[in-house]
Amino acid sequence: MNSPPNAPKPVAAGTFSRRDMLGIATTAAAVAGVALTTTQAAGQGEPKAPAKPPIRESLKAAQAAVKAVEKTIIKISREVWDLPAVGLKEQEAMEVHIRELEAAGFKITARKAGGHPTAFIAEWSQGMGGPKLGFLPEYDALPGLGNAAEAKVKPAANGKTDGHGCGHNCLGAGCTGAAIALKAMMEAKKTPGTLRVYGCGAEENVGAKVFMAKAGLFDDLDAALAWHSAPVAATGTVITSANRKIRVSWKGKTAHAGNTPWDGRSALDAAELFAHGVNLMREHVEPTARMHYIYEVAGVAPNIVPDEARIWMTARDATTAKVNATVEWLGQLGEGAALGTQTKANFTLEIGMPEMMPNETLAVRTLEHMQNTPLEWTAEEQSFAKACQKAMGLKEVGMATQTLPLIREMKVGGSSDVADVSWKCPVALFGWPTLPLGVSLHSWAVTACGGMSIGDKGSLASAEILAAVGYDLLTEPDLRKAAKEELTKRLDGRKYQAVQNIDPKSWDETAKRFGKSPGEEIVTDIEWK
Ligand SMILES: [Zn+2]
Repeated sequence: MNSPPNAPKPVAAGTFSRRDMLGIATTAAAVAGVALTTTQAAGQGEPKAPAKPPIRESLKAAQAAVKAVEKTIIKISREVWDLPAVGLKEQEAMEVHIRELEAAGFKITARKAGGHPTAFIAEWSQGMGGPKLGFLPEYDALPGLGNAAEAKVKPAANGKTDGHGCGHNCLGAGCTGAAIALKAMMEAKKTPGTLRVYGCGAEENVGAKVFMAKAGLFDDLDAALAWHSAPVAATGTVITSANRKIRVSWKGKTAHAGNTPWDGRSALDAAELFAHGVNLMREHVEPTARMHYIYEVAGVAPNIVPDEARIWMTARDATTAKVNATVEWLGQLGEGAALGTQTKANFTLEIGMPEMMPNETLAVRTLEHMQNTPLEWTAEEQSFAKACQKAMGLKEVGMATQTLPLIREMKVGGSSDVADVSWKCPVALFGWPTLPLGVSLHSWAVTACGGMSIGDKGSLASAEILAAVGYDLLTEPDLRKAAKEELTKRLDGRKYQAVQNIDPKSWDETAKRFGKSPGEEIVTDIEWK
């Protein structure tokens, strides 16, 4: 992609080692985490921030608009933090967003959007023929990551074991807050346009964006805007991997494993044969491929030949085409394992996401606003962050205080359902600190920081940045055009194809499985279908 004039100097993807890349968990965290790991490994502490561009009027207006709804944004973040529930079970958190959006004058145009249990759409518009922008709040929590808003491992006061270890309380508050603030900015200037807030439920297990994309609900957008909690402030063209989530099950025959094993046919044997095959496959797939699996069902007792076995796995690769080839091979492997053990295989491709179509045009504009958004922490906040780092055995360097240079064309192993949206319209995406430097997402410290002023500051700053980029998009036809042209160029004629074959009858089981706590065995209460 060509760089726009005055584009900040990018960080070349080649600067990062493969090991750095492997350390990344989720989308925007990837943006942040990779760069951070590199600089820390080099022992340089925080990298130098690039020179600040002049502040735009849109950011000044966004700062004032966010200030006016500050209480609402913090209320959303804290309330959602206090109502942690895993994906598909997070109705209460979703209702917090719906309530505040309705109060701000948005109309709820869809519940269970795209057929997803915890997705919704809220909309507001004024004038005729204006651009359409989408905001992508998430609000699901993670199992086992409930924690008090204190700088140590301590159960939450609400007694809940689920917790916002991925910062989705802040993420959601920032996105919904930005939409509410931008509405006020548009009203003040009589700017025509439509703002749509897509409630992106269950990001961690059965991402609603895939469902809404499949239903074509992003098709008419000019752009979508999102951010993610991260240890650093960063944006750029980060390309997450395409993935496919698969369940393979085998049906065999029980028998007494001591007396008459010849009467049985072990489904577990088939699963083991399959898993061995996966591990042999690794030699013959490209280094960008990832395959990870767990045994979900593996028998009941050793003296019964297992008649049921099931593997749940994810395959990933740099592109949709490559991951599709892997899936085809895995299907053959499942059948082969059944043949070899005289069992029957059932191979289900449940859900998948494409690789991300990043947008440098929007990343460059987003970065400008990020560089003009202060990252200031009180002494108490820095000592809170350092105490978390100490408790986790990390370097006590506190919170990030500056925005990183643009990250360009970096491929990472993780995947995100933001990618589904990114094939439909240009997406502005960035990472912003709500957790201390060096801390991984999906950890207790993210929950802790998200429930106090560090998380609140992230929700507010992200809302300002998103509202400013949103206002630029509404008022600058050239920016919209450039972003769209870049997407067309990156897609290179490829069309979005949704991968979503989840049986709605399996919702409860999926939620239950995801919500199980360590040590809790789920095999025995699965109803075999
Ligand atoms: Zn997340």
